[in-house]
Amino acid sequence: MILASILHTTAAHLKKLTQMGLTTVSDLLHYFPRTIESTAIVQRFPDLALGQKNTVEGLLADFRRERTRHGKQLGKAALILEDQTTLQVVWFQIPYLLKNIKDETRVFLVGKVDRNYGVMQINNPEVYLSRDVHVGGLRSIYPESPPITSKWMREKIKPLLVMADECPDILPKKILKEESFLPKSEAIKAIHRPQTLEAWEQARKRLAFEEVFEIQVRVLLEKQRRESDTENPCQFTFDADQIKEDLKQLPFELTLAQKKVLFHILKDFEGDRPAHRLVQGDVGSGKTIVAFLAGLQVVRAGFQIAILAPTEILATQHFANALKFFGPNVPVELLTGSTTATKKKSIKAKLKNGDIKVLIGTHAILTHDTIFKNLGFAVIDEQHRFGVAQRAVLAENHPHVVAMTATPIPRSLALTVYGDQDISVINELPPGRKKVITRVVHTPKTRTLCEHFINDQIQKGHQIFWVCPLVDESDKIEAKNVLAEYERISQIVYPQKRVTFLHGKMKSKEKEKIMAQFKNGEFDILVSTSVIEVGVDIPNATVMVIENAERFGLSQLHQFRGRIGRNDRQSYCFLMTKEEAAYTTRLKSMERFHDGFKLAEVDLELRGMGELYGTKQSGLPDFKCADLNDLETLQLARDWAVKILEEDPSLKTWPLLKKQIEGGAVYF
Ligand code: ADP
Ligand code: MG
Repeated sequence: MILASILHTTAAHLKKLTQMGLTTVSDLLHYFPRTIESTAIVQRFPDLALGQKNTVEGLLADFRRERTRHGKQLGKAALILEDQTTLQVVWFQIPYLLKNIKDETRVFLVGKVDRNYGVMQINNPEVYLSRDVHVGGLRSIYPESPPITSKWMREKIKPLLVMADECPDILPKKILKEESFLPKSEAIKAIHRPQTLEAWEQARKRLAFEEVFEIQVRVLLEKQRRESDTENPCQFTFDADQIKEDLKQLPFELTLAQKKVLFHILKDFEGDRPAHRLVQGDVGSGKTIVAFLAGLQVVRAGFQIAILAPTEILATQHFANALKFFGPNVPVELLTGSTTATKKKSIKAKLKNGDIKVLIGTHAILTHDTIFKNLGFAVIDEQHRFGVAQRAVLAENHPHVVAMTATPIPRSLALTVYGDQDISVINELPPGRKKVITRVVHTPKTRTLCEHFINDQIQKGHQIFWVCPLVDESDKIEAKNVLAEYERISQIVYPQKRVTFLHGKMKSKEKEKIMAQFKNGEFDILVSTSVIEVGVDIPNATVMVIENAERFGLSQLHQFRGRIGRNDRQSYCFLMTKEEAAYTTRLKSMERFHDGFKLAEVDLELRGMGELYGTKQSGLPDFKCADLNDLETLQLARDWAVKILEEDPSLKTWPLLKKQIEGGAVYF
């Protein structure tokens, strides 16, 4: 049923609802509250909880309007409680309900109670004239998006709750029974208007289960489909002696972890199906070489490989390394957004006839007219930077896919969205790496010290990265910012040094040139936007300065820091920020922790999953009820999804579930 036809509300509200993706009654019933709060009524003075939100019942008297010294209007009144004590009431914005209020009207006020110069006062309370959905029991708090408020939601959802009875239950009966879950209709009623805290918790658990269960079934079905639809077009047995030879050619020995992961990937090639493996390794753990070594075997077996990087700078770097690694006998090409049209055309022709064996590029590769003769292996570097749809383009060729990431994958994600992938972890760094000494710089004095220190480093022949903050999504503003910072550094702070800059707005030829020059030691300082965040490898750089560090997530800062300390030299990372406790506390964890996983955990706690993984891009589900920290529910849902699919992979036994999974609207 369409909401517009049933709700009495304004056009603005309806418009907002549509924007929020809420158009049917079912949508609204599935718009779950974020949390609940108690509005148990206090009638007597001794029961007031100081410093907390209270719901107070009493007679409102002496309502008046006053002006502050600054000319702002205030509403003031006294609330007479049952025990004849009074509470002072102050509104900063006068509620509509008070317009024609009569003295001694019975009201319910919800607001924080504080002591103000010895007088008990309730500040800016909500006002209600009767016990209703808002006062007297537990009330729900919804994610708000003006003009849609929790108050509005509570009022509108209440009369619709009877329709919850018509919500079909997609959960198989045996799950409901064995887990003693509430029926769907009960759960929906209880999540919106719970009688008790326990009832709410029970409803939440059950709805969260359903949410995750649905994802699990989808993910497992997808895996099943991939495994049954496609053969392994690039199946070959690897030659262990040959690989030993390859390893001997390297300038270093692989770490044990690298060898293990290489072995996992090579084993995948032997399988009956195209593999899908996620390789997670902290920054600097040496993921690239593992991908190259595996790729080399694929090329020897007669197939093409593709390596995808999220930025041109990184793609260009991989290209330069690949030229060296694969040697003169393997044709390697680079394809990015700035490859000229003629060049693109020729590359695409050579890909099609098999003349190119190794293609390296950015998402510019991912167009439907990039046709491979026989793509056997695709590597997606920094995979969290790519969208799900982008990755899907490559999948059309059914290659083996290895996605690489430095962002740790908590078990919760391994259980849900990544449920269809195998995961390998490179859990050690190459030997001899020193911890990057990290300092939060938040006073003018430490800033000066830091500048002297950097001067010394340059004197020693080392190089400096200087990262300017992301202002907003606009490249233009970012560029301006970099230029301003460049001028400050090159003219005021280090007029004697060789300083250059880099930003996303520059032509890629220019960018390449600057990176090459910097790598060559022609500059001491590179002022840049976050374009250097991922992957860039310049061993001579020993200092990373990050301006307005508070604007970045810890995982991102860790990525920046990963640009230095890539050999046995001592490196330093300076996090510039304001003198604000909230900023420095978070940033201080960078001083303490050097492990990406730990930092991701801290970030997760402080900023939430969406921030960390960029929900929108990475295809992470936007959970309504489920909580990625609730491993127990995730595991339970996983186990059931496996069981159900084992019993009947066609899902015919459970038509409602089948319909929901297939995207048909089960809800009314
Ligand atoms: P990441 O995992 O962050 O992508 P890279 O693949 O860029 O790391 O490797 C970081 C640096 O470490 C590169 O310069 C690479 O050549 C070097 N490296 C990789 N493996 C080893 C190893 N086993 N021993 C020494 N250096 C290594
Ligand atoms: Mg890398």
